[in-house]
Amino acid sequence: MRAVTVIPGVPGSLRLLDDYPEPATDEGAILVEALAVGICGTDIEIIEGHYGEAPPGTDHLVLGHESLGRVVEDPTGTLQPGDLVAGIVRHPDPLPCPNCAVGEWDMCRNGMFTEHGIKGLPGFARQRWRVQPRFAVGLHPALREVGVLLEPTSVVAKAWEHIDRIGQRAEWQPQTALITGAGPIGLLAALLASQRGLAVHVLDLATEGPKPALAGALGATYHSEPVDQLDFEPDIIVECTGAPVVVLEAMCKAALNGIVCLTGVSTGGRTIDFDAGALNRTLVLENNVVFGSVNANRRHWDAAADALARADHAWLGSLITRRVPLSDYARAYSPSPDDIKVVLDFTA
Ligand SMILES: [Zn+2]
Repeated sequence: MRAVTVIPGVPGSLRLLDDYPEPATDEGAILVEALAVGICGTDIEIIEGHYGEAPPGTDHLVLGHESLGRVVEDPTGTLQPGDLVAGIVRHPDPLPCPNCAVGEWDMCRNGMFTEHGIKGLPGFARQRWRVQPRFAVGLHPALREVGVLLEPTSVVAKAWEHIDRIGQRAEWQPQTALITGAGPIGLLAALLASQRGLAVHVLDLATEGPKPALAGALGATYHSEPVDQLDFEPDIIVECTGAPVVVLEAMCKAALNGIVCLTGVSTGGRTIDFDAGALNRTLVLENNVVFGSVNANRRHWDAAADALARADHAWLGSLITRRVPLSDYARAYSPSPDDIKVVLDFTA
């Protein structure tokens, strides 16, 4: 069967193989035919050779951690043939650590977890894959065109769950949320903010292209000025750019008792002038919390599936700005400035 692969650490090794083996039954009882795979910055980093790890005993890593497929067979009866399904990306470490032992693999303590399409497990960019029931997330049939957004939605579902939990340290009645960055993660974070009934603000440098209208369709106010020039202090900030100046300004901008969740991964290596004492003073005197959030566990994937089912499916569809047939795979992995989410289409 066909599969999109790289040799981790070897730039330019991206290939569409025609003779990749069928998924082994020990990968899971549920056999799935691929419908779509979403592409994000992690895939590009792997293709450029900066990241990624092949499964033990092989050179090749199948790409793809943002999945959508259709169940072919499930002898366990967990799902039915024809059901839409996505595969959970991360699997717990084999030890396991205290968090993985209770299903909190997103909080793994020893880093020995594995991840489909990233670290030690074949990805979902192949025509057929298998999954164990506990890593299979069923999707509402109406999500056929947009269910591939489940993985990025799971990431923001975790971020929002942790914001809610941190808020419970005291009486907590947040009114306003600022989302910095209007890429797929930022817009999905804004969707979940709007589903919580918050007044949503989205900030991004882009003044043209689809981002302002996509934020507007959620009822969010769109901003393109620097964070420190905003004329209000948000109760919650979800930072999705990873841009150092935006991160620092966000940490200083939160309201009293405010919570700042960092989700963007910076490249690092550049230094900027920054008044650390002023930041410390603000955080202490305002009871602010700044925390990082990555990945998602089963509970977050299920919450994300609910959030997508409740969302406007036409709005979700407009986040997918390009659908590229599998045969034209190289084009899918070449970012273009107007992209929000690019999807590899296994049915075209
Ligand atoms: Zn662990």
